[in-house]
Amino acid sequence: MEKLAIDGGIPVRNEKIYYGRQWVDKDDVQAVSQVLTSDFITCGPKVEELERVLAEQTEAKYAVAVSNGTAALHCACIAAGIGAGDEVITTPLTFAASANCALYCGARPVFADVDLLTYNIDPASIEEHITNKTKAVVAVDFTGQSVKIKEIREICDRHHLIFIEDAAHSIGTKYCGRPIGSLADMTCFSFHPVKTVTSGEGGAITTNCKELYKKLTLAHTHGITREENLMEEAYYQGAWYYEQISLGFNYRMTDFQAALLLNQLNKLGEFSARRKEIVSKYNEAFSQIPEIIIQEEIPESDSCRHLYIIRLDLQKLSCTRREFFDAMSAENIQCQVHYIPVYWFPYYKGLGYKKGLCPVAEEIYQTIMSIPLYPRMKDQDVADVIQAVKKVVENYRK
Ligand SMILES: *Cc1c(COP(=O)(O)O)cnc(C)c1O
Repeated sequence: MEKLAIDGGIPVRNEKIYYGRQWVDKDDVQAVSQVLTSDFITCGPKVEELERVLAEQTEAKYAVAVSNGTAALHCACIAAGIGAGDEVITTPLTFAASANCALYCGARPVFADVDLLTYNIDPASIEEHITNKTKAVVAVDFTGQSVKIKEIREICDRHHLIFIEDAAHSIGTKYCGRPIGSLADMTCFSFHPVKTVTSGEGGAITTNCKELYKKLTLAHTHGITREENLMEEAYYQGAWYYEQISLGFNYRMTDFQAALLLNQLNKLGEFSARRKEIVSKYNEAFSQIPEIIIQEEIPESDSCRHLYIIRLDLQKLSCTRREFFDAMSAENIQCQVHYIPVYWFPYYKGLGYKKGLCPVAEEIYQTIMSIPLYPRMKDQDVADVIQAVKKVVENYRK
């Protein structure tokens, strides 16, 4: 057995590799610099083009580009009419923004538990948490795997709830053959550099509903409109005239970010294919290691995976998750944990949330880590990660 690097052995590789990384090339740089020297660096034609392309690619009627994924979620909650006294059901196994968006609107996030095998929100648990205050569900396509859209849609319809899909992880994923983006009432994307395609910071909301689209447009630009049929002063005031008709924010994306994202979206197919290839290599390797549990997928989801999570069967190992994680770091494979249950954070504790709310999510959290997954990984990088996992497992095997 090879000695672990953490115990003084030789690491699997010399250069550190991280769990995620963007792929920005010369052509991306060129697309950005063209915009930077053009007439509009914000509020210009590139954002309009991006919204058209995003709607096309997601098969949604409308798309609104915004400054980041968190802004997308906030705008969706505003458009859904969420306010004080309302409840919004979401998963605890997510980035805090999926729940914070409800708090921004004065509503209370309610955490439903997840499925032990897929790690996605469990529709039965959503149903159990519905009260007469529930207004919306924010369902997260965790790791890029689609949630059970049909079941969630059915629950939302039956209880008159707005279905918001947090698709920060899942651009490029298909559900029953259809791209993520047109299946929920509103779908929120993030284009942060660790996500599948990037604009630096960036986000978008897609929807098929014209009413929601109008509200989203207002929410992301101060609640200001120039549309005559929305204005109170019906008669023509002059070309300068606009009205603020609701309270919105400045959540706009710039045109040079839009140019970057447009160029990245051209490569989504390529990025997605490489991610899938790496995922299948990992699945094949880890299915032969009894100490490693692989995330299961529902057949409806053709996933472009943003994260690859290994789950440890700690009963079969003589180490803790922390020791496994640290041993991987010493092998120069820098993992990450996605995510700490949102309601475990001190801020949420202060709001009255207690540990134990979602036992399945908590159990998953305590046994997982995300290993490197990004399209620019070389085959040797993938092989190094697999070798490191095998090496650490062998050393800690009971
Ligand atoms: C990244 C992420 C967000 C927030 O997106 P930003 O662009 O970073 O604001 C929201 N939800 C999930 C699940 C995410 O992973």
